[in-house]
Amino acid sequence: MYRLMEELYPICRSITGKGVRDTLRMIGRHVPLEVHEVPTGTTVFDWTVPKEWNITDAYVADSKGSRIIDFRKSNLHVVNYSKPVSTTVSLSELKSHLFTLPEHPVWIPYRTSYYNENWGFCLTHKQFTELKDDTYKVVIDATLEPGHLTYGEYYLPGETSDEVLISCHVCHPSLCNDNLSGIVVATFLAKMLSSSPRRYSYRFLFVPGTIGPITWLAHNADHVSRIKHGLVVTGIGDSGPFTYKKSRQGNAPIDQVMSHILRHSGKPYNIIDFFPYGYDERQYCSPGFDLPVGCLMRTPHGQYPEYHTSADNLDFVQPEYLSESFEQCLTAVRMLENNKTFVSQNPFCEPQLGKRGLYRPIGGDADKAGKEMALLWVLNLSDGRHSLLEIAERSGLNFKMVQAAAELLMQQGLLTEAQSQ
Ligand code: ZN
Repeated sequence: MYRLMEELYPICRSITGKGVRDTLRMIGRHVPLEVHEVPTGTTVFDWTVPKEWNITDAYVADSKGSRIIDFRKSNLHVVNYSKPVSTTVSLSELKSHLFTLPEHPVWIPYRTSYYNENWGFCLTHKQFTELKDDTYKVVIDATLEPGHLTYGEYYLPGETSDEVLISCHVCHPSLCNDNLSGIVVATFLAKMLSSSPRRYSYRFLFVPGTIGPITWLAHNADHVSRIKHGLVVTGIGDSGPFTYKKSRQGNAPIDQVMSHILRHSGKPYNIIDFFPYGYDERQYCSPGFDLPVGCLMRTPHGQYPEYHTSADNLDFVQPEYLSESFEQCLTAVRMLENNKTFVSQNPFCEPQLGKRGLYRPIGGDADKAGKEMALLWVLNLSDGRHSLLEIAERSGLNFKMVQAAAELLMQQGLLTEAQSQ
């Protein structure tokens, strides 16, 4: 995952253009993505697919011709989606197009100008304070023209057409936690699931933020009822504790799954209620769709100083954090896959566990006692109305223990799976 992130890091992505295509091509080396191209001007609900932006070079040079702000050194130097420009300006006019972070004088901010044609440069505050009274040549060698919006989709069919949606955004330039961490975790999750047995079908979306999911939803509105669970994965490569933002529904199975995992993780975590700001859950959870889609992050956007700056780089995200986040997503998927509902075949009084070798002959083994409790809870609540996760929640036991008990009882013929939920 980290190696893929290193490959993707230098690419200058935006909401449209070659950067997204190059990114999808690299993801496509790991999973066979279907790449969709939607023409500029296409109406998608209340929005219109914007022009395609491509950039080859940009700089600000002083009167001696030396590049004092240079896109080749960092793609964050250009306000993303800037219109092309080639002009000479005074220092004061130049300053009206410059963005810095005075509180972090050696970081470059990340700024965009979507849906409002403009141009600008971002630079460190240190560079800014060193600017001399001079005339400056400003060049943004870019095109902003009718083209396409590009997104990637990977669909993995399972035993049922019920779907799990995993979505991440692919529109930020050289920023690791905000966009690349979600991309690489989603890619490797897709890769792993492609070779695993699956009850659910899985749909992975690699989309530019906001306009991407809006476009996808506009083109797939008739099929979204198949989405039974969903996760937006983003900002999951930093060292912070996990943050799960619930779906708008608030108590969807994905909300129960993520809450259960985090509560039993033994590590600090945050669970927050849905609010209509953040990442692409905003679109999936808009009232017309109200899909059961939550958002898994580590430190939430805007709550770490590196957010949307050049400091969100390859040092800020580390393999160990990506790996832990991957595990978290995989645990969630496994729980969704195994969260079945059963019916006890012996509902009139308890079955005699001892004669089946399921009851400890001698007391005192705490672990065994827990396993026994799990057996009793599963037997009692398997009335066709309680899923294993609900049993785990009600009993306070870990899902894995409850699942293991159900498997044991299945082997003994004491449970059968309830007909599809
Ligand atoms: Zn962002």
